[in-house]
Amino acid sequence: MGDYMKQLSLRILEIDLSENIIEVIELPHKWVREYIGGRGLGTRLLWERTKQGANPLTPEAEMYILTGPLTGVIPGGAHICLTFKSPLTGNTIGFSVTGAQWGPELKYAGYDGIILKGKSPKPVYLMIKDDVVELRDAGHLWGTTTWQTQQLIKEELKDSQFKVLAIGPAGENLVSFASIGQEQFRAAARCGSGTVWGSKGLKAVAVRGTNPVSTFDLPGVIKARGELEKLMLSNRTNHPRGYELVRYGNSISLTAHNDEGRLVNKNYREGYFEGISEVGGLKYDLRYFAKSRSCSGCPLGCMKLGIVRDGIFAGNVVCPDFDSTANIGPGCNISDLGSMVYLSRWADEQGLDATSLGNITGFAMECYEKGILSLEDLDGIKLEWGNTTAILELWRKIVKREGIGDILAKGVKCASQAIGKGSEKLAMHCKGVEFPGFVPQGGHKKGLQYAISDRGPCHHYGSTIDEQNQRVWADSLTVCSWQRRLVDPQIYMDLLQTTMGWDIELSEWDITAERMLLLARAYNIREGIIPEKDDVLPERVHTEPLTTGKKAGSVYPLEKFKADRLRWYKERGCDETGVPKIEHLEEFGLDFTIPVIKKFTQ
Ligand code: SF4
Repeated sequence: MGDYMKQLSLRILEIDLSENIIEVIELPHKWVREYIGGRGLGTRLLWERTKQGANPLTPEAEMYILTGPLTGVIPGGAHICLTFKSPLTGNTIGFSVTGAQWGPELKYAGYDGIILKGKSPKPVYLMIKDDVVELRDAGHLWGTTTWQTQQLIKEELKDSQFKVLAIGPAGENLVSFASIGQEQFRAAARCGSGTVWGSKGLKAVAVRGTNPVSTFDLPGVIKARGELEKLMLSNRTNHPRGYELVRYGNSISLTAHNDEGRLVNKNYREGYFEGISEVGGLKYDLRYFAKSRSCSGCPLGCMKLGIVRDGIFAGNVVCPDFDSTANIGPGCNISDLGSMVYLSRWADEQGLDATSLGNITGFAMECYEKGILSLEDLDGIKLEWGNTTAILELWRKIVKREGIGDILAKGVKCASQAIGKGSEKLAMHCKGVEFPGFVPQGGHKKGLQYAISDRGPCHHYGSTIDEQNQRVWADSLTVCSWQRRLVDPQIYMDLLQTTMGWDIELSEWDITAERMLLLARAYNIREGIIPEKDDVLPERVHTEPLTTGKKAGSVYPLEKFKADRLRWYKERGCDETGVPKIEHLEEFGLDFTIPVIKKFTQ
């Protein structure tokens, strides 16, 4: 048995970028036990440490990069969650998750997370090698892509084993939907995480660790981990979703969602893409696939690297998944596989969230089609549906913030407000965050998730209470959301008992999830969200029926949406306007939020 108190403490690096002060702090045990790690703990820190009303892009705003208690312990437990105030919404929580190897490496260096605060007077990157932690000059890296930055830092540090998170030119130029990339084709993409780094003058965080991860009861961990591995290995072949991920990766689901009539097409006007046979199904596997890649130790290996073998982008290495291609390909009516997967790679290299970028591009294309944006407005770019060359021209302008690109770089909500002429009705967002790849008219459950999710439209939020609880647990344990679907939660409880020394039972699963989700809702209210007014969908979803595919004729009627939302509010312990009830907050130990909620309801 290890030292109980030692296991309960998290070692967090607190980096003051303004003053170049680096400290190691410990978080209160109560917070760690009640909020677990990753997304849950990040929400608790955001409430406590980021001042009410803080502008997300000013030095006073903080970011929390957190691993989970099982990071570096279990296969595929390799994710991290970055929590911050969202620059896309300006008044909600933002969080973003990414897998690969960076999280375990931070643990091997001896840290559970990083708090970023302040703003560096000049571009810097953070270097962590076990006990050596320093801010280094990044002036020579400014302007390089996420991929180039990762390579240059490894060369500079003379160690290819460093794991590097980096922003690209988009983050530097404060594009509102900039991402943070790692290890090529992996990114913490949503909500403008890279924009926050750009505002702080932080180009990258490179980490290298050589220590083992300490555990409370090593033999117990080995046994529980064995159970998890057995289940995952069996699910590689026995679970249909597991097999699909192992064999094809998740971009294969483009076709299935299209068949169901809920895949984005032409800026969410349609849920069916006629060109799907050119970009979906087995075509990638048959023509481009080269090899599989995994997050640390994961036996599923869902990343499918390939090489474009035809067309103008031939020779480029690519790695598509559903989220990085749905809005760019079917969303913009691109029916050429090589173009779709290369554009997704281009977004990754420049440090852009492919989901938001595809959404905004579809919006601009519809504005052009309807004459709201003229050729002159678009700086001469013929932005027709499916025109790859025009799309790349537009994207270069977005990254550089030139002309129309500067307007679109602000996100679809702000861009539509700047353009006017009725374009606001074509902006498909909730709370200022762009819709992902599902069309709510063709899938009402997705629509409800979009509206009620605390970070803006998110198809990972979960449509039922059970699903939402599972999701927030996965993001707080920082395990992959695919693994979460294949594993019995009791295994995670066994792992927490043996890894952390916690006396924890499965009965805490729902209670802990509810606490974390209610806190995020309370935080949003504190920062200015009015649930009844802001948990809404764009008018198109309620009034414009799809015209093609299985769901032709469908809308998500406003009355049905309101009834679904009301049912969810009640199930989640909120009143009919979506505000958490005081007695519910008390029940889940959220007393510290009550003064804010009372003030809001008075
Ligand atoms: S299923 Fe894919 S994303 Fe999840 S841990 Fe495994 S390799 Fe990573």
